[in-house]
Parts: sequence; structure tokens; C-alpha cells
Amino acid sequence: MAGKIIPVTDQRTLEAVPSIPLIQVPATGSVADRLGRPLNDLRISVTDRCNFRCVYCMPAETFGKSYTFLPQTSLLSFEEIVRIAGIFVAHGVEKIRLTGGEPLLRKNIEQLVSMLSQLKTPDGRELDLTLTTNGSLLAKKAQALKEAGLKRVTVSLDSIDDATFKRMNDVDFPVSQVLHGIDAAHQAGLGPIKINMVVKGGLNDHEIVPMARHFKGSPFILRFIEYMDVGTSNGWKMDEVIPSSEVVRCINAVLPLAALDANYAAETAARWRYQDGSGEIGVISSVTQAFCSNCTRARLSTEGKLYTCLFASGGHDLRALLRRGHSDEEISSAIAHVWRARDNRYSELRSARTAGLNQTLKKVEMSYIGG
Ligand code: SAM
Ligand code: SF4
Ligand code: SF4
Repeated sequence: MAGKIIPVTDQRTLEAVPSIPLIQVPATGSVADRLGRPLNDLRISVTDRCNFRCVYCMPAETFGKSYTFLPQTSLLSFEEIVRIAGIFVAHGVEKIRLTGGEPLLRKNIEQLVSMLSQLKTPDGRELDLTLTTNGSLLAKKAQALKEAGLKRVTVSLDSIDDATFKRMNDVDFPVSQVLHGIDAAHQAGLGPIKINMVVKGGLNDHEIVPMARHFKGSPFILRFIEYMDVGTSNGWKMDEVIPSSEVVRCINAVLPLAALDANYAAETAARWRYQDGSGEIGVISSVTQAFCSNCTRARLSTEGKLYTCLFASGGHDLRALLRRGHSDEEISSAIAHVWRARDNRYSELRSARTAGLNQTLKKVEMSYIGG
């Protein structure tokens, strides 16, 4: 038989409806988990569908013609998303990132952006409203997204070489169209734009220096991301992870770098600047240098489940609370209760050995929960 078979457990249907605490306490603008981490960021997955089949995220063997995506009725409506987001903002969330799947595939996404952009922090500030995209539809949508109130975009691009990029997206999508999308976003004022490159050993590690050269001196900040053991369908192996230290070593050998301080405590990327003054890069060491102790991020899945960690095996069904007619106060208390109980720190506990074994554990896919 050709190819390997990787058991995939469908985590999308696991039920866990959060309980409503007997006494409801109004949100105070700040809620901490068991490890003292505040709730500051919310990632919202607006679709589980994608027009790419990146081999490390939605491999075609699993996400093929017979794969069943969520039906329209399972998705949170825009009104539901905004209602939940407003409750999170009252608990201290200041940054919202739309993701997926490919978020620009969600119909009328500009309308959602416009609705979310009306939300304000408890002290009246605008949110940092951003979106991560594969860039394929960005040229068409950048201007409308900006007008709707989007602040910035992050674009994923794993190679500057067409053949390598096509091997990675697995749908024959050319680099030139993503670059065109990045330029359109820049023209529309959706900056500073970050470019995310996931580095998978043996696939695109030869593209580290060419990508650095391409974006050096541009207005865009290139960030290298370690290939993570998210989900179960990508067949992750530790020896395919290229440590960030190796990325920095490779680039520094030809384009000398110097370390920069973090912009803020919870920043996930370590920053490096080119010594000749032509910009900076970032490295995100999710595997080799976990940043769980600073992880202030909640994730809302396409169908309204709250995940307190990218590696959590189950979510908390907020959609059920909405559709059962609970009040904002009740849902707010339930969310605070979930966050206060949070003690996730998967990456800190991971080791090469356990992560290898963990391919048999139940984990949700990145395309469902949102990266
Ligand atoms: N489709 C959009 C995109 O690709 O930008 C948004 C969703 S995607 C799941 C979000 C980010 O997760 C992308 O930058 C992608 O490269 C990254 N990603 C997906 N699978 C990953 C993995 N196994 N390890 C590290 N990053 C991954
Ligand atoms: Fe789609 Fe983004 Fe996953 Fe690639 S990384 S398959 S573009 S969701
Ligand atoms: Fe946050 Fe979980 Fe990732 Fe740690 S493993 S940084 S807790 S999402």
C-alpha cells in the first residue's frame, strides 16, 4: 500500500459545555489563570476551510475530497463572534487575530472586521485587530479590510522559490501572487506586515537564507517559525524541526545579525537586526524554547469552542451557552471560570521523546483551532 496511515481522531465534536458559576461576578478588565497569566489575546478561527493543502497543516491525504468540513450551521455567526469577543474584551483582551483555515475565504469577512473594530477596551482604547492569511486573496481584499478597520496583517509564505512553495502548499499556488497580495496590503496601509515562514527540515530549510535576502531592506518583518507537533495529521517528527538557533546561525554567517530586546514581555518572537541597519527578523522557537510562562492567548474555534492552549485535547463549548439563551453575565462568568482554572503549558513539558509519543494522543488540528 502506498503512503503511511496516520490515525486522526476527530476532536471537533467533543462536548464540554462550561458550567455557569452560581454567583456571577462582573468582568473587571483582568482575569488571571492558575499560573498568574492574564487573558490578553484572542485568536478567532472564522473557517475550517482552506484553498491550500500545506503539507505541515492540512495534508491532502487527510483533507482530501472525502473530508467533511463543518456545515454552515455549525459556524458561529458574525453576531455570535462579536458578542463573545466583547465579553473577552471586558476580561482584558486587547488583541484579536482572525485566522482559520484561510480567514479570507469566509464570506463577507470585511463585515466581521467592521463589527469587531467597534469594540473598545474598558478604558476606551481601540483593539489591535489583525489577521493571518496565506495571502492568496489579499490583493483582492486588502483595501476593503483596511476600510473596515483592520489594523495589520501577517502573511504566511514558506519559500521564495516557486517549486518549493508549490511543493509546500500542494495546490500549485505561485509565490508571485502572494507577493502581489503583500504589496497590496502594504499599499492599503495594513502594516507593519509580518511574513511567517514555517521551516520544515528537508523541505524548505534551504530557503532560509534566500527568504532573508529577499525581505532584507523591505518594510516587511520576516519571522521563522519552528515546525510544531500540532494536531495529528501532519506526521510530525522532532528531527524535522530546525531549531531557531540554527536559523540565526545560517543567516548570521552571510548577513551579520545582532540581538534586539523584546517589544513587550509576552512577545513570542526573539528579534534580531541586520548589523548593516537594513531591518530585522524574528524567530519563534515554539519547540526548542517554549514561551508558555508568557502565554496570554485564548482561541475560539470556528464553531465556538474556547481552547486555552493550542495543544488542548478539548474545548469549552461557548456556542452552546449562546444558543441556550444564557446572558452575557452568565457567559462572562463561565469564561472567567475556565480561564482561572487554566494550567496549560504543553510546550514547556514537551521533550523530543514525549512529543514523538504524543502523535497518538488526541489533539486538535491547527486549521480548526486557528494558528
Ligand atoms: N491560512 C492562514 C495562514 O496560513 O496564514 C491562517 C491559518 S494558519 C493555521 C496560521 C499559521 O499557522 C500559519 O502561519 C501557518 O504557517 C502556521 N502553521 C500551521 N501548521 C503549523 C505547524 N505544524 N507548525 C508551525 N506552524 C504552523
Ligand atoms: Fe491553509 Fe494556512 Fe493551513 Fe496552509 S497553514 S493549509 S494556508 S490554514
Ligand atoms: Fe500557550 Fe499552550 Fe503554546 Fe504553551 S503550549 S505557549 S500554553 S498555546
